[in-house]
Amino acid sequence: MLEVGLAVSKGTVRVRFAPSPTGYPHLGNIRTALFNWVFARHSSGVFILRIEDTDVARLVEGATETILGSLRWLGLNWDEGPYFQSQRLELYREASDRLVKQGLAYHCYCSPQRLDSMRQEQMKRKQPPGYDRHCRNLTGEQRDEMEASGIIPVVRFKAPLEGQTSFQDLLRGEITFENNTLDDFVLLKSDGYPTYHLANMVDDHLMEISHVLRADEWLSSTPRHVLLYQALGWQPPQFAHLPMILGADRSKLSKRHGATSITEYQEQGYLPEAMFNFLALLGWALDDKTELITREDIVKHFSLERISRTAAVFNKDKLDWMNGVYLRDLSLEEFTQRAIPFLERDLPVDVKRPLDIDYIRQIAPLIQERARTLAEVPQLSEFFFVDELKYDAGLLLGKIEKAEAIKSLQTSVAKMDDLKDWDTASLEAVFRPLADELKLKTSVFFGLLRVAITGRTAAPPLFQTMEVLGRERCLRRLKSGIDKLVTF
Ligand code: GLU
Repeated sequence: MLEVGLAVSKGTVRVRFAPSPTGYPHLGNIRTALFNWVFARHSSGVFILRIEDTDVARLVEGATETILGSLRWLGLNWDEGPYFQSQRLELYREASDRLVKQGLAYHCYCSPQRLDSMRQEQMKRKQPPGYDRHCRNLTGEQRDEMEASGIIPVVRFKAPLEGQTSFQDLLRGEITFENNTLDDFVLLKSDGYPTYHLANMVDDHLMEISHVLRADEWLSSTPRHVLLYQALGWQPPQFAHLPMILGADRSKLSKRHGATSITEYQEQGYLPEAMFNFLALLGWALDDKTELITREDIVKHFSLERISRTAAVFNKDKLDWMNGVYLRDLSLEEFTQRAIPFLERDLPVDVKRPLDIDYIRQIAPLIQERARTLAEVPQLSEFFFVDELKYDAGLLLGKIEKAEAIKSLQTSVAKMDDLKDWDTASLEAVFRPLADELKLKTSVFFGLLRVAITGRTAAPPLFQTMEVLGRERCLRRLKSGIDKLVTF
């Protein structure tokens, strides 16, 4: 039985994030990266990036770049790498050869067809799946025959047939597996590429990884790795399997719960600093109440002890709330700069590009308070940019008769024409008393103006909006409101 020590303090902390570029990084992947990064920074250790690209059939084009992009976006900078396993094949072959030479692994010549019918049989007999060890006990003669036939074998590990394999998980304590539940898993495939198990543990050893923090779906792989460490005579790292992330309905987080790929959050206008805070709390907590916590404080206070043993629940409302808080916390200039790419991307095509930055600077304070994500900014501020508002004339008649609405707008046009200074205070000084003159409740009158000026019933404060839009635009809009009503 192999024991893994618990001491976290000994030696340099060296951790790695080891994604497979078989898809776009989802929240869970990046949460793993983040915990490793934070742990490294907390311990003045080293954060290594290793791309596990040995499953050639499942590689997805562009996935590596997307992974790197997501890490950069969140500021998870790496100290070493990226290493690519596909460029290290010799190292895995060497380890595999050694195990074969020592009689701890063997060549397996079974054809895919044979393995397939074996699986069918096992299913029929309700036996657990796994290789039946057909080639484990080939005689020398049989082996020579197979070699001569030109079949390229895979290499399988000779898993012990009895006994137990145990290891300490830093979060879960001692974990024990019965060896007879582990089959003779493949180490090297016939294409010369290693399997995940071999490449992963060889690299963890060669890269002197001190702690493996990974998703708990890998827990069942760990006894295999521990057996390989024993076989190769290497000291295993310490393991911590991170709690799962569940959706609000307590099922495993998936597409059904909304965006899962981290780039989607980026595109939807979540801020990396909010995302960082949010992800850090998916399975870790400073205490039982703190929600808003800076990157520096997370690094400072992070500890493996405070990683939860139970699954973390992904709460989209909390993320939206948190993002809103971070968004409002930005300086006006910072908010403006970050909003620009979203405005460029999402405002209607007929709005002239490039956009006028000074104009955006004036709009920004009116929108910053209201947006929960940067992607909401174009939608919330569209009426500042378009030439012509598209809305239904009926919207103008919320609580007012048509004739009265037309008269009110006409009077407003006249007042606007006469106005000396075009600023919020002057506008308010004119339009507030005008409601009385028109014998309208201010809410009704301002509601009418709001629709005429913005095309919507909910918008930023009316007079500030009018100030930013400018006299010409406002006049045009009121007149077009009148026209709409006349022909309504
Ligand atoms: N390549 C594996 C993954 O994609 C790494 C698992 C591990 O960290 O050992 O998650």
